[in-house]
Parts: sequence; structure tokens; C-alpha cells
Amino acid sequence: MTSPADLPKLWTHEPHEYLVFRDGDKVANIDTSATPGFKGKKSDAAELQPERNERFAQLQEMLYANSRGTDDTRSVLLVLQGMDTAGKGGIVKHVVGAANPQGIRYTGFGVPTEEERKHAYLWRIRRALPPAGHIGVFDRSHFEDVLVVRVHNIVPPEVWGRRYDEINRFERKLVEDGTTIIKAAMFVSLDEQKARLSERLDRPDKYWKYNPADVDERLRWPAYQEAYQAMLERTSTDYAPWHVIPCDRKWYSRLAILELLIEALEGLNLSWPPADFDVKAEKKRLANA
Ligand code: AMP
Ligand code: MG
Repeated sequence: MTSPADLPKLWTHEPHEYLVFRDGDKVANIDTSATPGFKGKKSDAAELQPERNERFAQLQEMLYANSRGTDDTRSVLLVLQGMDTAGKGGIVKHVVGAANPQGIRYTGFGVPTEEERKHAYLWRIRRALPPAGHIGVFDRSHFEDVLVVRVHNIVPPEVWGRRYDEINRFERKLVEDGTTIIKAAMFVSLDEQKARLSERLDRPDKYWKYNPADVDERLRWPAYQEAYQAMLERTSTDYAPWHVIPCDRKWYSRLAILELLIEALEGLNLSWPPADFDVKAEKKRLANA
């Protein structure tokens, strides 16, 4: 049995180092059941996650406190991109859910509404960006506009083809303005996806997650694979790199994305904002109030 004090050591490296997309990496070769960088088992993950959730929640509160107590306008944006059943919802519930909702700005991006269709594709994205001190969470994102849009020929290739560079410029500006971007591309195997979809059909409490169109999308996996490959190659930058997350084991993908968040927040070197009042004098005043 691993002692709780040793648990963070179950990572051989910061998960970032294993998961960051590198030139030459191929979507077709991703081992979706692997647990890169993690030495422990599922039972270790179950013990470790609550502890790391707490660390994440503390850092998130510090980020939020700084935007209130100082003129720090920094923010964080977590971009979750993946096919149906990859586990995006589970990250939102079990990882992001550990933090205080007050400082979270969650947005799920579906088929554009009539209003959204009147605007350029980045319009709805800009409106959903995290304010100062917040953690934004994108459940799907602007990358749908080079994924589903490419696979379904929703706009011609010369239109979606321009979007990779445009997205890079958009993200560079965000980073320059103080947003740390964490991009997680989540991959499940076709077998695991089938098992998860079939569970949705077997459980009345999961019907709401099932969409008959998911089966059609599944059949288009080869085209999606190509689109994901292009997305990773063309939009993984030094200022906003992609991370490739194997998602057949939910306990691993949750733990990995949790560590990416913690690593990013620790990189901000946050501390609690100092009192902007005289603590001693206030204690005295309160005692007599
Ligand atoms: P879900 O995440 O299961 O609620 O599904 C949302 C659906 O919206 C997915 O099938 C996405 O591919 C689709 N979607 C998201 N963004 C776009 C977009 N820009 N154009 C077309 N479909 C989209
Ligand atoms: Mg769905």
C-alpha cells in the first residue's frame, strides 16, 4: 500500500512531458489504453485524485483571490476536445467540479445556433472567454470548426483551411493578454467507444447522453482521424501546445488533466493577496464593535 505522502511521486515526470504533442506523433498510433508517466494502478489513482483535487481547488481560489485583491488579470483556459464518449463530461464533473463554481466559466459548444451562425466562428468563442481570475472550460471549442466542419464539408476547404493560422493568431493574442491555455485532445479506442455507447443504451439514467448521430460519427472515424492529425500538427504551438490524452481508462485521463491544470496554475506563482487594511487595527475595532 502506498502511503498518501508518496502518492504524487507515482508520476515519473510531470505528465506534460509525456503528453505534449510532438512533431511526427501520429493519431493512428496513439495507445488509448496507456497510462504514460503514471506508475500506479487504478486503486492508487482513487487515493491520489481527492488529494490533487484539493490542491487544484486551493490554487483556483488563489487565482480568483488575486483578481479581487490585486490588479492581477490573469486567467486559465482549459480546452477539451474529443469524440463522443471520450470523457469530456467526466473531466468537467470530477476534475473541474472540485473547484469553486464562482471562479469557473464553463461553456459547452454544440451545433451553432441561428444567432451564432450569423457571426464568424470565433464570435461565440470570444464571448465565452474566462474573465480575470477565472478558469474557463471549453467542452468542445473553436477546433470543431476544423474538425466536424472539415469532415462534413460544412464550408469549403479554402475556408476551413485558413482557420488553422487564424486560430493560432487568436490564441497567441489570448496568451499575450494573460490567459494560460491548456489544450487536451482526448482519445478513446473504437472498442471502448462502442462499450460506452452501449452502456448509454442499457441505462435509462444515461439515455440523455445518447445521440443516434453518434453512431454515424463513429463510422467516420477515419476522416476524423485525419482532421485530428491536421489539427494537432497545425495548431500545437509553443505558447499553446496540444496534449494527447489516452482516455480508455477514465481514472488516468482525469488524473492526467488534473495534473496539467495544477502544473499550469503552479506556473503562475500565485500567493494569497495581502490585506489592504491594517489587520491589527481591524482586530481591535472588531473586538470593540
Ligand atoms: P455534444 O458535445 O455531445 O453535446 O455534441 C455537440 C455536437 O455539436 C457534436 O456533434 C459537435 O460535433 C457539434 N458541433 C460543435 N461545434 C460545431 C460546429 N462549429 N459546427 C457544427 N457542429 C458542431
Ligand atoms: Mg454527445
